[in-house]
Amino acid sequence: MHQDAIIIGGGFAGLSAAYILGRARRHVTVIDSGTPRNRFAAHAHGVLAMDGLSGGEILTRARDQLAAYPTVTLLSGEADSAAGAIDNFSIRLSSGSRLSARRLLLASGVEDRLPEIPGLKERWGKSVLHCPYCHGYEIGGGPIGVLASHPMSAHQAAVVADWGDVTLFTNGTPDPEEETLNLLERRNVTLQAGKVDAVGDAPDGRLFVRLETGKTLDVKALFVGPDLQIRGTIVHDLGCALEESPAGRIIATSPAKATSIAGVYAAGDIARAFGNITLSSADGVVAALGLHQSLMFEAPQP
Ligand SMILES: Cc1cc2nc3c(=O)[nH]c(=O)nc-3n(C[C@H](O)[C@H](O)[C@H](O)COP(=O)(O)OP(=O)(O)OC[C@H]3O[C@@H](n4cnc5c(N)ncnc54)[C@H](O)[C@@H]3O)c2cc1C
Repeated sequence: MHQDAIIIGGGFAGLSAAYILGRARRHVTVIDSGTPRNRFAAHAHGVLAMDGLSGGEILTRARDQLAAYPTVTLLSGEADSAAGAIDNFSIRLSSGSRLSARRLLLASGVEDRLPEIPGLKERWGKSVLHCPYCHGYEIGGGPIGVLASHPMSAHQAAVVADWGDVTLFTNGTPDPEEETLNLLERRNVTLQAGKVDAVGDAPDGRLFVRLETGKTLDVKALFVGPDLQIRGTIVHDLGCALEESPAGRIIATSPAKATSIAGVYAAGDIARAFGNITLSSADGVVAALGLHQSLMFEAPQP
């Protein structure tokens, strides 16, 4: 069946959009491969009325509620490639099957690339974190590390200092400029020079950060600024314009979350610089409104 819309990605942005479109009685299929960005964390925070639920639990609730909307189809699978133009897009899934729709919504999120330091990946979302607003409260103060990995790391250290006593591991990056050093001093951030060569478990649930010199420091959590990568090749298949953000490349969108390609919308982390569950959900709503109104008010192409 030729759908009104296909949503690629059934995370917070994609399901929010499906909810709005389903309530507008539009035929929409959500394709989801089941790997939301925060799957590494046992609990999610900063989401009103959902404090401490896991991301997976919030998404399960959303899917259960969406099941009541007869025009919404939730499909488990991976969208492989996209082709076509407004009013006639087609999506091929990795299973080989194809779907077509008048509009597309890209909500497939991003992938976090961490620095290649032994011990980091295994602790991602547990004691290695990126967002103090999501997980800073649970640390409960005390020693916290920030690993310099990109130009915003000093700023991240100055912010995280509101949650504990921060050491910024410069990790071989250039020394901060004087203005930044002054900021770090005002925020009581200690600088630790030298390359980090490993992190691992220390007593009392802490984490050790080991420098190449052999020196180790124990912290309760280590913050890192990951490099964000758009997942898959569909954005490139379609030719959507991208823009640089401090955290990596994202899809450029209008205030209604339309991309540079007519009929293609984008929402969530894939189309905003600093995302979280609430902001991605809100993006999904904005994109769904824009997409729905384009179905109503833009004359179908011959
Ligand atoms: C470790 C960690 C902890 C976090 N904790 C919090 C927190 O406590 N509170 C908070 O507000 N935010 C938190 N965040 C941020 C939050 O996870 C993201 O902002 C949010 O998940 C973005 O939602 P999204 O819908 O854009 O993308 P996602 O939630 O990542 O969903 C994208 C979906 O698209 C699917 N997908 C990808 N490619 C395809 C494809 N080709 N075909 C089909 N499906 C595809 C994926 O499987 C996934 O299910 C955390 C992030 C991380 C990394």
